[in-house]
Amino acid sequence: MTCFNCSKRCDKPEEACGVFGLYSYNGDHLGKTTYYGLFALQHRGQESAGIAVSNGKEINAHIGMGLVNVVFGGEWKFKGLTGNISIGHVRYSTTGGSSLANAQPFVLETKFGPIALAHNGNLINTADLKAELLEKGFKFLGTSDTEVIAGLLATAKEDNFEEAVLSTLKEIHGAFSLVIMTKDKLFAIKDPHGIRPLCVGEIENAYVVASETCALDIVGAKFLREISNGEMVIIDKDGMQSKTYSRGNRSALCAFEFIYFARPDSVINGRSVYEARVSMGKYLAKEHPAPYTELISGVPDSGIPAAIGFAAESRIPFGDSLIKNRYVGRTFIQPSQDIREMGVKVKLNPLKETIKSRKLVVIDDSVVRGTTSRKIVKLLKDTGAREVHFRVSSPPITNSCFYGIDTPTKAELIAANLSIEGIRKYLDVDSLGYLSLNSLVKAINMPADELCLACLSGKYPVQIPEKLENLKLFFK
Ligand code: SF4
Repeated sequence: MTCFNCSKRCDKPEEACGVFGLYSYNGDHLGKTTYYGLFALQHRGQESAGIAVSNGKEINAHIGMGLVNVVFGGEWKFKGLTGNISIGHVRYSTTGGSSLANAQPFVLETKFGPIALAHNGNLINTADLKAELLEKGFKFLGTSDTEVIAGLLATAKEDNFEEAVLSTLKEIHGAFSLVIMTKDKLFAIKDPHGIRPLCVGEIENAYVVASETCALDIVGAKFLREISNGEMVIIDKDGMQSKTYSRGNRSALCAFEFIYFARPDSVINGRSVYEARVSMGKYLAKEHPAPYTELISGVPDSGIPAAIGFAAESRIPFGDSLIKNRYVGRTFIQPSQDIREMGVKVKLNPLKETIKSRKLVVIDDSVVRGTTSRKIVKLLKDTGAREVHFRVSSPPITNSCFYGIDTPTKAELIAANLSIEGIRKYLDVDSLGYLSLNSLVKAINMPADELCLACLSGKYPVQIPEKLENLKLFFK
């Protein structure tokens, strides 16, 4: 995705996709319900969106580039999407580029009949699997690793689709929350480490699966449970059944779901994302207090819950210092030179009377390259802030992610290259403090050994092939 204020990708780790699935026993809840589900997951991917629906005989799909409301802007786009099973996807590209060929759901004809699949995550052994598939004569249309999963299913030697899925799951490594649809079944699958979230809910006469609980809320579904690590849920005319295809692996839920990716109104693993962020702010205030300051504010929107927590803990008033233009989408593609020069002002406007001559604490959820944070600080100072104290409600990002999140190379990560004092000077702030790893874990309220903290600690829960690591570090 192109950032609104420069020609590069956004200065935030970027989410890699959202998935949604629906099995209706009376066909009442299809295309449009999936549309609303995707709408709730829009924050997980803004490059493309798609819905595939099975009517029991065939699978029809509508897939396009852009936001959900752009792709499904007119009623006619739902006309072919009738049936009783549906899957949907919003995409942000990590592996593979941004093009319609990589948009999902991926629909293909196989010896099992038509299948459709949608994936959130990243495989770490894509290159090897791709080479094997090419050797078998599988023809790739795009470059995404989701197509690799589709290729494995399409070329499986098993005669039974469920067995083909199980044999495919043995081949793929990395992060995957998957929804797969045949003419008459819906599969929802989580990788053995549970790196990306996936949950299941129920509405009258239908089961719903989604990346986040906020998508269940919007369609009026009741949350039933998270899909477990290494679990395959199969929903068909006989109801819902569960199979464990992999046991005993270390759990590794992505900590960044709590820090930044997930919507604050979602609940993951029983923990409210909003409450976790407020708690991060409270711990941050204990670890890096900012006495004698006059106003605590957050960088909108994702820094605000932590700022509320920081203010509550430090008993300093919370208030806005920056107003976000909510109509500047994350896909503000191909900015003109004029817009680039306007920089961060296109998106954030400072509240002059609030800021002028005051000592501010500004809280953001994370700092990747530091380029946007530096612009924000300059904006506040140019507006007349007397002091700017910067606080970050996550630990320094020192390593790249290989599990479906687009972080830049280590060479571009500011915390991998500068000391805290070096970052403070670069940002040009009066003081700087990051949340510690320990406090982050306490705020999330899950055991550290059940979380992936790799980009913050360098300890990868799923071994990264050396060649992939080198590729990421030097050539991406
Ligand atoms: S490396 Fe970081 S962003 Fe990637 S899955 Fe782990 S915690 Fe999440």
